Amino acid sequence: MDDLKVCCLCGKDYEGYGNNAQPVCDGRCCDHCNLSIVIPERIRRLHGSYHVGDSIHIIHLHGEDTTYDGREGCVTHIDSIGQLHGDWGGLAVIPSEDEFYVIDPS
Ligand SMILES: [Zn+2]
Repeated sequence: MDDLKVCCLCGKDYEGYGNNAQPVCDGRCCDHCNLSIVIPERIRRLHGSYHVGDSIHIIHLHGEDTTYDGREGCVTHIDSIGQLHGDWGGLAVIPSEDEFYVIDPS
C-alpha cells in the first residue's frame, strides 16, 4: 500500500483518509481512535463534562515544552474557570487549548 499513514494517537499505521483528530491532537488518526477517543472527547468538550477522578492522558500542553507530553494522571480538582488540576505535575490542563483525552472516566 502506498498510502499508509501513522495515527497521531496510537502510532499505528492506517490506510485511507483517516480522521481529523482535533481537538485531541493536531493531526489525523485511525478509525478506531476516532471512535474510541476523538468523538467522545469532542462531546466532553462541548459539554465541559470533566469530573474529579477522571484519568487523562496528556498529549501536549499549549505553549509549554514537552515536559508534560505523554503524562497520565487523575483529576483531583477542577477550578472555577474549568481548568483541570491533577497528579500529573504542577500545571493545569485547559480543555479549550490543550491536547489531551480522558482514558478512564470516573
Ligand atoms: Zn489510532
